[in-house]
Amino acid sequence: MVEIVVDEDACVGCGSCVDDCPSDVYQMNEEKWKSEVINADDCMACLSCHEICPSQAMEHRDIHVAKRLYIDRKVSDVLNKII
Ligand code: SF4
Ligand code: SF4
Repeated sequence: MVEIVVDEDACVGCGSCVDDCPSDVYQMNEEKWKSEVINADDCMACLSCHEICPSQAMEHRDIHVAKRLYIDRKVSDVLNKII
């Protein structure tokens, strides 16, 4: 199972990962105004959030490569760094 961790110190609260994630994995914490993971089980490992996050605040652990539905060269580079 994939584990997703958001570094609150790095997150600048732009909300892009919330808007961009096709599986609604993230939401904004209303008090801290930081992204938080609410639905990691539905992550399909597209890594769009890594692409869009301006501060590279999230980390995927134990990612299941077979679940990837979309991949391009940039995403491959990101994936190769984290697995
Ligand atoms: S990898 Fe894709 S599905 Fe998973 S949290 Fe990021 S944007 Fe959402
Ligand atoms: S895209 Fe990055 S900086 Fe923006 S809310 Fe998500 S984790 Fe925070």
